Amino acid sequence: MLLFQKKVKSIVSFSIVLLLSIVFLSQPHLTAYASNEMPGYENPQDIIIASPKNNYTTTGSKVSILGACDYEYPLYMNGEEIETSGYGFFTVYVELEVGKNEFVFENNEVINTLTIIRNKVSTSSGNNSTSGGNTTPKVTYKEYQNDVYGVITSDYAMPRSKVSESNVNLMPLTLGTTSRILGENGSYYKLADGTYVSKSSIKRYDKTLEPNKVTKASMSKDTAANQLVIELTMNVNSLYSVSFEGQNIYLKLYDTIAAAKPITKGNGIIEKVTVNTDSKNKTKTYCFTMFDSASIYGYDVNFKNGVMRFELKLPVILKDTKSLVGATILLDAGHGDYDNGTVGAMGVYGPVEKDINLNITLYTKQYLEALGAKVVLIREDDTFYSLSNRVETIRKVKPDISVSIHGNSLDYASDYSKASGFLTYYSYNLFGNLPNVMNNSITSELELKKRDPRQSSLSLTRLTTCPSVLLETSFLSNPYDYEYLIQSENQKEFGIAIGKAIQGYLQGIAKQNDQVYVVKKGDTLASIASKHGITIKRLAEYNRIEDINYIIVGQKILIP
Ligand SMILES: [Zn+2]
Repeated sequence: MLLFQKKVKSIVSFSIVLLLSIVFLSQPHLTAYASNEMPGYENPQDIIIASPKNNYTTTGSKVSILGACDYEYPLYMNGEEIETSGYGFFTVYVELEVGKNEFVFENNEVINTLTIIRNKVSTSSGNNSTSGGNTTPKVTYKEYQNDVYGVITSDYAMPRSKVSESNVNLMPLTLGTTSRILGENGSYYKLADGTYVSKSSIKRYDKTLEPNKVTKASMSKDTAANQLVIELTMNVNSLYSVSFEGQNIYLKLYDTIAAAKPITKGNGIIEKVTVNTDSKNKTKTYCFTMFDSASIYGYDVNFKNGVMRFELKLPVILKDTKSLVGATILLDAGHGDYDNGTVGAMGVYGPVEKDINLNITLYTKQYLEALGAKVVLIREDDTFYSLSNRVETIRKVKPDISVSIHGNSLDYASDYSKASGFLTYYSYNLFGNLPNVMNNSITSELELKKRDPRQSSLSLTRLTTCPSVLLETSFLSNPYDYEYLIQSENQKEFGIAIGKAIQGYLQGIAKQNDQVYVVKKGDTLASIASKHGITIKRLAEYNRIEDINYIIVGQKILIP
Protein backbone atom coordinates (compact mmCIF):
# COMPACT_ATOMS: atom_id res chain seq x y z
CA MET A 1 0.00 0.00 0.00
CA LEU A 2 2.89 2.34 0.77
CA LEU A 3 3.88 2.05 -2.83
CA PHE A 4 0.80 3.97 -3.87
CA GLN A 5 1.07 6.89 -1.46
CA LYS A 6 3.38 8.91 -3.66
CA LYS A 7 2.08 11.98 -5.37
CA VAL A 8 0.50 11.43 -8.68
CA LYS A 9 1.57 14.42 -10.68
CA SER A 10 4.98 13.01 -11.63
CA ILE A 11 3.53 9.99 -13.31
CA VAL A 12 0.68 11.44 -15.30
CA SER A 13 0.82 9.73 -18.64
CA PHE A 14 0.12 11.90 -21.61
CA SER A 15 -1.88 9.18 -23.33
CA ILE A 16 -4.18 8.85 -20.36
CA VAL A 17 -4.72 12.59 -20.24
CA LEU A 18 -5.48 12.50 -23.94
CA LEU A 19 -7.82 9.58 -23.52
CA LEU A 20 -9.63 11.30 -20.70
CA SER A 21 -10.02 14.48 -22.65
CA ILE A 22 -11.60 12.52 -25.50
CA VAL A 23 -13.91 10.72 -23.10
CA PHE A 24 -14.63 14.02 -21.41
CA LEU A 25 -15.64 15.70 -24.64
CA SER A 26 -18.17 13.02 -25.33
CA GLN A 27 -19.45 13.03 -21.74
CA PRO A 28 -20.25 16.69 -21.05
CA HIS A 29 -22.55 15.89 -18.13
CA LEU A 30 -19.61 15.42 -15.75
CA THR A 31 -20.00 18.96 -14.46
CA ALA A 32 -17.03 18.89 -12.11
CA TYR A 33 -14.69 19.43 -15.04
CA ALA A 34 -14.65 23.02 -16.22
CA SER A 35 -14.90 23.13 -19.99
CA ASN A 36 -11.45 24.66 -20.53
CA GLU A 37 -9.70 22.55 -17.90
CA MET A 38 -7.63 19.52 -18.80
CA PRO A 39 -8.93 16.77 -16.54
CA GLY A 40 -5.84 14.92 -15.31
CA TYR A 41 -6.77 11.52 -13.99
CA GLU A 42 -4.82 12.29 -10.83
CA ASN A 43 -7.74 14.05 -9.37
CA PRO A 44 -11.22 13.93 -10.85
CA GLN A 45 -12.53 16.40 -8.21
CA ASP A 46 -15.72 14.45 -8.47
CA ILE A 47 -17.21 11.20 -7.29
CA ILE A 48 -17.26 8.63 -10.04
CA ILE A 49 -19.24 5.47 -9.46
CA ALA A 50 -17.76 2.97 -11.89
CA SER A 51 -20.09 0.14 -10.94
CA PRO A 52 -22.85 -0.77 -10.48
CA LYS A 53 -24.97 1.61 -12.55
CA ASN A 54 -27.49 3.83 -10.80
CA ASN A 55 -30.81 1.96 -10.25
CA TYR A 56 -29.04 -1.38 -10.64
CA THR A 57 -31.52 -4.12 -9.82
CA THR A 58 -30.60 -7.44 -8.27
CA THR A 59 -31.97 -10.26 -6.17
CA GLY A 60 -28.65 -10.64 -4.38
CA SER A 61 -28.14 -9.56 -0.78
CA LYS A 62 -24.74 -7.96 -1.26
CA VAL A 63 -22.99 -5.94 -3.94
CA SER A 64 -19.61 -4.29 -4.47
CA ILE A 65 -19.55 -0.59 -5.28
CA LEU A 66 -16.46 0.64 -7.12
CA GLY A 67 -15.45 4.23 -7.75
CA ALA A 68 -13.06 7.14 -7.52
CA CYS A 69 -13.09 10.51 -5.79
CA ASP A 70 -10.95 13.58 -5.05
CA TYR A 71 -8.03 12.05 -3.14
CA GLU A 72 -7.28 15.32 -1.30
CA TYR A 73 -10.44 14.86 0.79
CA PRO A 74 -11.97 12.02 2.80
CA LEU A 75 -14.85 10.10 1.33
CA TYR A 76 -18.01 9.33 3.27
CA MET A 77 -20.79 6.88 2.50
CA ASN A 78 -24.00 7.48 4.43
CA GLY A 79 -21.96 9.52 6.88
CA GLU A 80 -19.24 6.96 7.50
CA GLU A 81 -15.71 7.41 6.25
CA ILE A 82 -14.55 4.96 3.61
CA GLU A 83 -11.03 3.75 2.83
CA THR A 84 -9.62 5.12 -0.40
CA SER A 85 -6.39 4.31 -2.20
CA GLY A 86 -3.66 6.87 -2.79
CA TYR A 87 -5.40 8.05 -5.93
CA GLY A 88 -8.83 8.17 -4.30
CA PHE A 89 -10.04 4.81 -5.63
CA PHE A 90 -12.43 2.86 -3.43
CA THR A 91 -14.63 -0.18 -3.15
CA VAL A 92 -17.29 -1.01 -0.58
CA TYR A 93 -19.14 -4.26 -0.18
CA VAL A 94 -22.64 -3.32 0.95
CA GLU A 95 -25.60 -5.25 2.36
CA LEU A 96 -28.88 -4.69 0.53
CA GLU A 97 -32.35 -4.48 2.04
CA VAL A 98 -35.25 -5.70 -0.06
CA GLY A 99 -36.52 -2.65 -1.96
CA LYS A 100 -34.73 0.61 -2.61
CA ASN A 101 -31.25 1.15 -1.17
CA GLU A 102 -29.65 4.58 -1.22
CA PHE A 103 -25.93 5.16 -0.81
CA VAL A 104 -24.99 8.80 -0.39
CA PHE A 105 -21.34 9.48 -1.14
CA GLU A 106 -19.78 12.73 0.03
CA ASN A 107 -16.34 14.00 -0.86
CA ASN A 108 -15.30 17.63 -0.39
CA GLU A 109 -18.28 19.58 -1.77
CA VAL A 110 -19.55 16.83 -4.01
CA ILE A 111 -22.47 14.54 -3.25
CA ASN A 112 -23.35 11.54 -5.39
CA THR A 113 -26.25 9.23 -4.60
CA LEU A 114 -26.33 5.66 -5.88
CA THR A 115 -29.61 3.77 -5.84
CA ILE A 116 -29.63 -0.02 -5.90
CA ILE A 117 -32.86 -2.00 -5.95
CA ARG A 118 -33.06 -5.43 -4.43
CA ASN A 119 -35.96 -7.57 -5.58
CA LYS A 120 -37.36 -10.41 -3.54
CA VAL A 121 -36.60 -13.83 -4.93
CA SER A 122 -39.91 -15.22 -6.13
CA THR A 123 -40.86 -18.34 -4.21
CA SER A 124 -44.15 -18.90 -6.03
CA SER A 125 -44.28 -21.30 -8.97
CA GLY A 126 -43.29 -18.56 -11.37
CA ASN A 127 -41.31 -19.03 -14.57
CA ASN A 128 -38.01 -18.08 -13.04
CA SER A 129 -38.11 -20.58 -10.23
CA THR A 130 -34.81 -22.36 -9.91
CA SER A 131 -35.55 -24.58 -6.95
CA GLY A 132 -38.70 -26.42 -6.03
CA GLY A 133 -40.58 -25.35 -9.14
CA ASN A 134 -40.95 -27.75 -12.02
CA THR A 135 -41.92 -25.41 -14.81
CA THR A 136 -38.72 -25.73 -16.87
CA PRO A 137 -39.19 -28.62 -19.27
CA LYS A 138 -36.35 -31.06 -18.82
CA VAL A 139 -34.37 -31.67 -21.99
CA THR A 140 -33.60 -35.30 -22.51
CA TYR A 141 -31.52 -37.33 -24.91
CA LYS A 142 -33.29 -38.71 -27.97
CA GLU A 143 -31.51 -41.44 -29.89
CA TYR A 144 -32.04 -41.50 -33.65
CA GLN A 145 -33.49 -44.65 -35.19
CA ASN A 146 -32.49 -43.76 -38.75
CA ASP A 147 -29.01 -43.02 -40.12
CA VAL A 148 -27.93 -39.42 -39.74
CA TYR A 149 -24.59 -37.73 -40.14
CA GLY A 150 -23.30 -34.19 -39.86
CA VAL A 151 -20.49 -31.97 -41.11
CA ILE A 152 -18.87 -29.39 -38.84
CA THR A 153 -19.53 -25.95 -40.35
CA SER A 154 -17.79 -23.66 -37.86
CA ASP A 155 -14.07 -23.95 -37.57
CA TYR A 156 -12.78 -25.07 -34.22
CA ALA A 157 -16.14 -26.30 -32.92
CA MET A 158 -15.86 -27.31 -29.28
CA PRO A 159 -17.17 -30.73 -28.33
CA ARG A 160 -18.36 -31.29 -24.78
CA SER A 161 -18.55 -34.50 -22.81
CA LYS A 162 -22.02 -33.68 -21.47
CA VAL A 163 -24.62 -31.19 -22.66
CA SER A 164 -24.54 -29.49 -19.28
CA GLU A 165 -20.80 -29.02 -18.95
CA SER A 166 -17.79 -28.29 -21.07
CA ASN A 167 -14.84 -30.58 -20.59
CA VAL A 168 -11.57 -28.71 -20.55
CA ASN A 169 -9.70 -31.73 -21.82
CA LEU A 170 -11.54 -32.06 -25.11
CA MET A 171 -9.96 -30.43 -28.13
CA PRO A 172 -11.62 -28.46 -30.91
CA LEU A 173 -12.82 -29.97 -34.20
CA THR A 174 -11.74 -28.49 -37.48
CA LEU A 175 -14.01 -27.33 -40.29
CA GLY A 176 -15.41 -30.16 -42.41
CA THR A 177 -15.09 -32.90 -39.77
CA THR A 178 -17.77 -35.46 -40.55
CA SER A 179 -19.38 -37.78 -38.04
CA ARG A 180 -22.37 -40.02 -37.59
CA ILE A 181 -24.96 -38.34 -35.39
CA LEU A 182 -26.29 -40.77 -32.80
CA GLY A 183 -29.01 -38.55 -31.38
CA GLU A 184 -29.85 -35.16 -29.98
CA ASN A 185 -30.21 -33.47 -26.62
CA GLY A 186 -31.77 -30.01 -26.72
CA SER A 187 -29.59 -27.89 -28.93
CA TYR A 188 -26.80 -30.47 -29.15
CA TYR A 189 -26.05 -33.44 -31.40
CA LYS A 190 -24.29 -36.50 -30.08
CA LEU A 191 -21.37 -37.56 -32.29
CA ALA A 192 -19.92 -41.01 -32.95
CA ASP A 193 -17.38 -40.62 -30.14
CA GLY A 194 -20.11 -39.83 -27.58
CA THR A 195 -19.32 -36.12 -27.32
CA TYR A 196 -21.85 -33.35 -27.96
CA VAL A 197 -21.54 -30.46 -30.39
CA SER A 198 -23.89 -27.48 -30.70
CA LYS A 199 -26.42 -27.89 -33.54
CA SER A 200 -25.44 -24.43 -34.74
CA SER A 201 -22.01 -25.69 -35.77
CA ILE A 202 -23.09 -28.80 -37.69
CA LYS A 203 -24.97 -29.31 -40.95
CA ARG A 204 -27.17 -32.37 -40.66
CA TYR A 205 -27.77 -34.95 -43.42
CA ASP A 206 -30.41 -37.67 -43.09
CA LYS A 207 -28.29 -40.22 -44.90
CA THR A 208 -26.02 -43.13 -44.16
CA LEU A 209 -22.36 -42.27 -43.73
CA GLU A 210 -20.01 -44.42 -45.80
CA PRO A 211 -17.32 -46.16 -43.76
CA ASN A 212 -14.01 -44.32 -43.97
CA LYS A 213 -10.89 -45.83 -45.55
CA VAL A 214 -7.44 -44.30 -45.43
CA THR A 215 -6.02 -45.41 -48.76
CA LYS A 216 -2.77 -43.47 -48.82
CA ALA A 217 -0.52 -42.04 -46.14
CA SER A 218 2.60 -39.92 -46.23
CA MET A 219 4.85 -38.09 -43.82
CA SER A 220 7.18 -35.23 -44.64
CA LYS A 221 9.04 -32.41 -43.01
CA ASP A 222 8.04 -28.87 -43.91
CA THR A 223 11.22 -27.02 -43.00
CA ALA A 224 9.84 -23.57 -43.81
CA ALA A 225 6.92 -23.99 -41.40
CA ASN A 226 9.06 -26.08 -39.01
CA GLN A 227 6.56 -28.90 -38.84
CA LEU A 228 6.11 -32.55 -39.63
CA VAL A 229 3.16 -33.10 -41.94
CA ILE A 230 1.23 -36.35 -42.06
CA GLU A 231 -1.22 -36.58 -44.95
CA LEU A 232 -3.92 -39.23 -44.96
CA THR A 233 -6.02 -39.69 -48.08
CA MET A 234 -9.54 -40.74 -47.05
CA ASN A 235 -13.07 -40.81 -48.44
CA VAL A 236 -14.73 -39.25 -45.35
CA ASN A 237 -13.37 -36.25 -43.41
CA SER A 238 -13.40 -38.52 -40.43
CA LEU A 239 -14.20 -37.51 -36.88
CA TYR A 240 -10.92 -37.66 -34.95
CA SER A 241 -9.38 -37.21 -31.57
CA VAL A 242 -5.77 -36.49 -30.72
CA SER A 243 -3.99 -37.45 -27.51
CA PHE A 244 -0.45 -37.63 -26.17
CA GLU A 245 1.28 -40.07 -23.85
CA GLY A 246 5.01 -39.99 -23.33
CA GLN A 247 6.65 -40.29 -26.75
CA ASN A 248 3.38 -41.44 -28.37
CA ILE A 249 1.02 -39.27 -30.37
CA TYR A 250 -2.38 -40.89 -30.94
CA LEU A 251 -4.71 -39.98 -33.77
CA LYS A 252 -8.01 -41.83 -33.48
CA LEU A 253 -10.31 -41.99 -36.51
CA TYR A 254 -13.96 -42.98 -36.07
CA ASP A 255 -16.01 -45.22 -38.38
CA THR A 256 -12.81 -46.09 -40.20
CA ILE A 257 -12.21 -49.59 -41.56
CA ALA A 258 -8.86 -49.25 -43.33
CA ALA A 259 -5.76 -47.29 -42.40
CA ALA A 260 -2.72 -47.14 -44.68
CA LYS A 261 0.53 -46.52 -42.83
CA PRO A 262 3.03 -43.82 -43.83
CA ILE A 263 6.72 -44.57 -44.28
CA THR A 264 8.64 -43.10 -41.36
CA LYS A 265 12.22 -43.44 -42.54
CA GLY A 266 14.58 -40.51 -42.34
CA ASN A 267 12.56 -37.76 -40.70
CA GLY A 268 14.39 -37.98 -37.40
CA ILE A 269 11.21 -37.41 -35.40
CA ILE A 270 8.92 -40.41 -35.73
CA GLU A 271 10.56 -43.75 -35.01
CA LYS A 272 7.60 -45.97 -35.90
CA VAL A 273 3.91 -45.94 -36.69
CA THR A 274 1.43 -48.55 -35.54
CA VAL A 275 -2.30 -48.77 -36.12
CA ASN A 276 -4.66 -50.22 -33.53
CA THR A 277 -8.10 -51.46 -34.49
CA ASP A 278 -11.09 -51.38 -32.20
CA SER A 279 -13.74 -53.23 -34.16
CA LYS A 280 -16.39 -52.84 -31.47
CA ASN A 281 -16.19 -49.05 -31.60
CA LYS A 282 -15.25 -49.00 -35.30
CA THR A 283 -12.10 -46.97 -34.78
CA LYS A 284 -8.56 -47.06 -36.11
CA THR A 285 -5.92 -45.36 -33.98
CA TYR A 286 -2.60 -44.29 -35.40
CA CYS A 287 0.18 -44.32 -32.83
CA PHE A 288 3.13 -42.22 -33.90
CA THR A 289 6.08 -43.01 -31.64
CA MET A 290 8.69 -40.29 -31.50
CA PHE A 291 12.41 -40.83 -30.96
CA ASP A 292 13.40 -40.19 -27.33
CA SER A 293 15.11 -36.98 -28.34
CA ALA A 294 12.11 -35.65 -30.30
CA SER A 295 9.17 -33.64 -29.06
CA ILE A 296 6.40 -31.58 -30.57
CA TYR A 297 4.88 -28.27 -29.52
CA GLY A 298 1.44 -28.23 -31.06
CA TYR A 299 -0.70 -29.78 -33.72
CA ASP A 300 -3.37 -28.84 -36.22
CA VAL A 301 -5.79 -30.76 -38.40
CA ASN A 302 -7.18 -29.59 -41.74
CA PHE A 303 -9.26 -31.30 -44.41
CA LYS A 304 -8.75 -30.48 -48.07
CA ASN A 305 -9.71 -32.40 -51.21
CA GLY A 306 -10.11 -35.74 -49.47
CA VAL A 307 -6.90 -35.41 -47.50
CA MET A 308 -6.56 -35.06 -43.75
CA ARG A 309 -3.52 -32.94 -43.02
CA PHE A 310 -2.17 -33.59 -39.53
CA GLU A 311 0.53 -31.05 -38.76
CA LEU A 312 2.91 -31.53 -35.84
CA LYS A 313 4.75 -28.44 -34.72
CA LEU A 314 8.47 -28.97 -34.14
CA PRO A 315 10.54 -27.25 -31.43
CA VAL A 316 11.54 -23.69 -32.14
CA ILE A 317 14.95 -23.36 -33.76
CA LEU A 318 16.91 -20.49 -32.31
CA LYS A 319 20.04 -19.16 -33.94
CA ASP A 320 21.94 -19.14 -30.65
CA THR A 321 21.27 -19.64 -26.96
CA LYS A 322 21.14 -15.97 -26.03
CA SER A 323 18.85 -14.32 -28.57
CA LEU A 324 15.39 -15.15 -29.89
CA VAL A 325 16.38 -15.00 -33.54
CA GLY A 326 14.31 -17.67 -35.25
CA ALA A 327 11.27 -17.51 -32.93
CA THR A 328 7.82 -16.32 -33.96
CA ILE A 329 5.77 -15.06 -31.03
CA LEU A 330 2.11 -14.14 -31.12
CA LEU A 331 0.80 -11.57 -28.64
CA ASP A 332 -2.91 -10.97 -28.25
CA ALA A 333 -4.04 -7.84 -26.43
CA GLY A 334 -7.55 -8.63 -25.22
CA HIS A 335 -10.65 -6.69 -26.36
CA GLY A 336 -10.52 -3.45 -28.41
CA ASP A 337 -12.66 -0.66 -29.83
CA TYR A 338 -16.24 -0.83 -28.49
CA ASP A 339 -15.27 -3.82 -26.37
CA ASN A 340 -13.64 -2.19 -23.32
CA GLY A 341 -13.18 -5.42 -21.45
CA THR A 342 -13.60 -4.71 -17.77
CA VAL A 343 -13.38 -1.27 -16.16
CA GLY A 344 -11.62 -0.05 -13.04
CA ALA A 345 -12.46 2.52 -10.37
CA MET A 346 -12.58 5.35 -12.93
CA GLY A 347 -15.14 3.50 -15.04
CA VAL A 348 -15.03 4.65 -18.64
CA TYR A 349 -13.51 7.98 -17.49
CA GLY A 350 -10.17 6.31 -16.92
CA PRO A 351 -8.07 3.67 -18.64
CA VAL A 352 -10.15 0.56 -19.26
CA GLU A 353 -8.95 -3.01 -19.70
CA LYS A 354 -8.44 -2.82 -23.49
CA ASP A 355 -6.04 0.18 -23.10
CA ILE A 356 -4.00 -1.43 -20.35
CA ASN A 357 -3.82 -4.75 -22.25
CA LEU A 358 -2.52 -3.00 -25.36
CA ASN A 359 0.10 -0.93 -23.50
CA ILE A 360 1.49 -4.00 -21.74
CA THR A 361 1.48 -5.97 -25.00
CA LEU A 362 3.43 -3.25 -26.79
CA TYR A 363 6.09 -3.28 -24.07
CA THR A 364 6.33 -7.08 -24.35
CA LYS A 365 6.71 -6.76 -28.11
CA GLN A 366 9.47 -4.20 -27.74
CA TYR A 367 11.38 -6.44 -25.34
CA LEU A 368 11.12 -9.52 -27.57
CA GLU A 369 11.95 -7.70 -30.79
CA ALA A 370 15.12 -6.36 -29.20
CA LEU A 371 16.16 -10.01 -28.82
CA GLY A 372 15.54 -10.65 -32.51
CA ALA A 373 12.19 -12.43 -32.28
CA LYS A 374 9.50 -11.99 -34.90
CA VAL A 375 6.47 -10.69 -33.01
CA VAL A 376 2.98 -10.87 -34.49
CA LEU A 377 0.24 -8.84 -32.81
CA ILE A 378 -3.47 -9.57 -33.10
CA ARG A 379 -4.07 -5.85 -32.70
CA GLU A 380 -1.60 -2.99 -32.50
CA ASP A 381 -4.22 -0.29 -32.04
CA ASP A 382 -7.76 0.16 -30.78
CA THR A 383 -9.35 -2.29 -33.21
CA PHE A 384 -11.79 -5.05 -32.33
CA TYR A 385 -11.31 -8.62 -33.51
CA SER A 386 -13.67 -11.44 -32.62
CA LEU A 387 -12.38 -14.44 -30.74
CA SER A 388 -12.77 -16.67 -33.81
CA ASN A 389 -10.86 -14.08 -35.88
CA ARG A 390 -8.04 -14.20 -33.37
CA VAL A 391 -7.95 -18.00 -33.37
CA GLU A 392 -7.95 -18.03 -37.17
CA THR A 393 -4.95 -15.67 -37.26
CA ILE A 394 -3.00 -17.82 -34.82
CA ARG A 395 -3.68 -20.97 -36.84
CA LYS A 396 -2.44 -19.19 -39.94
CA VAL A 397 0.68 -17.68 -38.36
CA LYS A 398 1.63 -20.93 -36.58
CA PRO A 399 3.72 -19.13 -33.96
CA ASP A 400 6.04 -20.88 -31.51
CA ILE A 401 3.96 -19.55 -28.63
CA SER A 402 0.74 -17.55 -28.21
CA VAL A 403 0.12 -15.29 -25.21
CA SER A 404 -3.13 -13.43 -24.56
CA ILE A 405 -3.01 -10.47 -22.21
CA HIS A 406 -6.04 -9.47 -20.15
CA GLY A 407 -7.13 -7.77 -16.94
CA ASN A 408 -9.39 -9.46 -14.43
CA SER A 409 -12.52 -8.53 -12.47
CA LEU A 410 -15.07 -10.07 -10.13
CA ASP A 411 -18.83 -9.97 -10.61
CA TYR A 412 -20.85 -7.32 -8.71
CA ALA A 413 -22.08 -9.82 -6.13
CA SER A 414 -18.54 -10.58 -4.91
CA ASP A 415 -16.40 -8.55 -2.55
CA TYR A 416 -14.05 -6.64 -4.87
CA SER A 417 -11.53 -6.03 -2.11
CA LYS A 418 -10.99 -9.76 -1.69
CA ALA A 419 -9.50 -10.55 -5.11
CA SER A 420 -6.25 -9.17 -6.43
CA GLY A 421 -3.16 -10.21 -8.30
CA PHE A 422 -1.93 -12.20 -11.22
CA LEU A 423 -3.35 -15.41 -12.73
CA THR A 424 -2.29 -17.70 -15.57
CA TYR A 425 -4.95 -19.59 -17.54
CA TYR A 426 -4.44 -22.56 -19.85
CA SER A 427 -6.45 -25.36 -21.43
CA TYR A 428 -3.97 -28.14 -22.11
CA ASN A 429 -0.59 -28.40 -20.47
CA LEU A 430 0.91 -30.49 -23.27
CA PHE A 431 3.89 -28.66 -24.54
CA GLY A 432 6.89 -27.92 -22.32
CA ASN A 433 4.92 -27.06 -19.17
CA LEU A 434 4.21 -23.57 -20.50
CA PRO A 435 1.61 -22.50 -17.87
CA ASN A 436 3.98 -23.17 -14.97
CA VAL A 437 7.05 -21.78 -16.67
CA MET A 438 5.24 -18.51 -17.45
CA ASN A 439 3.56 -18.33 -14.05
CA ASN A 440 6.78 -18.91 -12.09
CA SER A 441 8.81 -16.53 -14.17
CA ILE A 442 6.34 -13.62 -14.02
CA THR A 443 5.50 -13.96 -10.33
CA SER A 444 9.20 -14.18 -9.40
CA GLU A 445 10.20 -11.27 -11.62
CA LEU A 446 7.46 -8.98 -10.26
CA GLU A 447 7.46 -10.46 -6.73
CA LEU A 448 3.77 -11.25 -7.01
CA LYS A 449 1.77 -13.77 -5.04
CA LYS A 450 2.20 -17.18 -6.66
CA ARG A 451 -0.99 -19.07 -7.45
CA ASP A 452 -1.32 -22.27 -9.45
CA PRO A 453 -2.21 -21.78 -13.12
CA ARG A 454 -5.92 -22.38 -13.73
CA GLN A 455 -7.28 -24.73 -16.33
CA SER A 456 -10.18 -23.30 -18.28
CA SER A 457 -11.77 -23.71 -21.69
CA LEU A 458 -11.07 -20.30 -23.25
CA SER A 459 -11.04 -19.60 -26.99
CA LEU A 460 -7.48 -18.34 -26.88
CA THR A 461 -6.08 -21.18 -24.78
CA ARG A 462 -7.81 -24.18 -26.29
CA LEU A 463 -5.82 -23.65 -29.44
CA THR A 464 -3.73 -26.70 -30.19
CA THR A 465 -1.62 -25.04 -32.90
CA CYS A 466 1.04 -23.95 -30.44
CA PRO A 467 1.60 -23.68 -26.69
CA SER A 468 -0.75 -20.96 -25.45
CA VAL A 469 -1.69 -19.21 -22.23
CA LEU A 470 -3.91 -16.33 -21.20
CA LEU A 471 -2.58 -13.98 -18.54
CA GLU A 472 -4.80 -11.95 -16.23
CA THR A 473 -2.36 -9.27 -15.12
CA SER A 474 -4.39 -7.93 -12.16
CA PHE A 475 -7.92 -7.21 -11.01
CA LEU A 476 -9.29 -3.93 -12.32
CA SER A 477 -12.10 -4.38 -9.79
CA ASN A 478 -9.56 -3.99 -6.99
CA PRO A 479 -8.68 -0.30 -6.32
CA TYR A 480 -5.04 -1.04 -5.44
CA ASP A 481 -4.49 -3.34 -8.43
CA TYR A 482 -6.07 -0.73 -10.69
CA GLU A 483 -3.87 2.00 -9.28
CA TYR A 484 -0.84 -0.17 -10.06
CA LEU A 485 -2.04 -1.11 -13.53
CA ILE A 486 -2.78 2.37 -14.86
CA GLN A 487 0.76 3.64 -14.28
CA SER A 488 2.80 3.40 -17.42
CA GLU A 489 6.01 2.48 -15.58
CA ASN A 490 4.21 -0.53 -14.09
CA GLN A 491 2.75 -1.46 -17.47
CA LYS A 492 6.27 -1.42 -18.82
CA GLU A 493 7.55 -3.54 -15.95
CA PHE A 494 4.73 -6.05 -16.53
CA GLY A 495 5.32 -6.09 -20.27
CA ILE A 496 9.00 -6.83 -19.77
CA ALA A 497 8.25 -9.55 -17.20
CA ILE A 498 5.97 -11.27 -19.74
CA GLY A 499 8.69 -10.89 -22.37
CA LYS A 500 11.29 -12.46 -20.08
CA ALA A 501 8.95 -15.36 -19.30
CA ILE A 502 8.41 -16.02 -23.01
CA GLN A 503 12.14 -15.79 -23.59
CA GLY A 504 12.84 -18.27 -20.80
CA TYR A 505 10.29 -20.74 -22.11
CA LEU A 506 11.47 -20.62 -25.73
CA GLN A 507 15.15 -20.79 -24.89
CA GLY A 508 14.36 -23.65 -22.52
CA ILE A 509 12.59 -25.78 -25.10
CA ALA A 510 15.05 -24.91 -27.86
CA LYS A 511 18.00 -25.99 -25.78
CA GLN A 512 16.32 -29.01 -24.34
CA ASN A 513 15.49 -30.27 -27.79
CA ASP A 514 18.90 -30.00 -29.27
CA GLN A 515 19.62 -33.58 -30.12
CA VAL A 516 23.29 -34.40 -29.89
CA TYR A 517 24.75 -36.89 -32.35
CA VAL A 518 28.26 -38.18 -31.76
CA VAL A 519 30.14 -38.77 -35.03
CA LYS A 520 31.14 -42.41 -35.58
CA LYS A 521 33.65 -43.96 -37.94
CA GLY A 522 32.38 -43.93 -41.51
CA ASP A 523 29.87 -41.06 -40.95
CA THR A 524 29.71 -38.11 -43.31
CA LEU A 525 27.77 -34.93 -42.72
CA ALA A 526 25.57 -36.03 -45.61
CA SER A 527 24.80 -39.38 -44.01
CA ILE A 528 24.03 -37.77 -40.64
CA ALA A 529 21.78 -35.20 -42.33
CA SER A 530 19.90 -37.84 -44.28
CA LYS A 531 19.49 -40.00 -41.17
CA HIS A 532 17.71 -37.09 -39.48
CA GLY A 533 15.73 -35.92 -42.48
CA ILE A 534 17.40 -32.54 -42.90
CA THR A 535 19.62 -30.94 -45.51
CA ILE A 536 23.42 -30.83 -45.20
CA LYS A 537 23.28 -27.06 -45.59
CA ARG A 538 20.95 -26.69 -42.62
CA LEU A 539 22.96 -29.08 -40.46
CA ALA A 540 26.20 -27.30 -41.33
CA GLU A 541 24.71 -23.88 -40.61
CA TYR A 542 23.17 -25.01 -37.34
CA ASN A 543 26.52 -26.36 -36.17
CA ARG A 544 28.52 -23.58 -37.77
CA ILE A 545 30.54 -26.11 -39.76
CA GLU A 546 32.40 -24.28 -42.50
CA ASP A 547 33.84 -27.25 -44.37
CA ILE A 548 31.14 -29.87 -44.86
CA ASN A 549 33.75 -32.45 -45.79
CA TYR A 550 35.56 -32.15 -42.48
CA ILE A 551 34.07 -33.83 -39.42
CA ILE A 552 35.91 -36.03 -36.95
CA VAL A 553 35.00 -39.16 -34.99
CA GLY A 554 33.69 -38.20 -31.55
CA GLN A 555 32.61 -34.72 -32.70
CA LYS A 556 29.24 -33.68 -31.31
CA ILE A 557 26.72 -32.57 -33.90
CA LEU A 558 23.54 -30.79 -32.80
CA ILE A 559 20.46 -32.01 -34.61
CA PRO A 560 17.93 -29.19 -34.90
ZN1 LIG B 1 -10.37 -9.39 -20.73
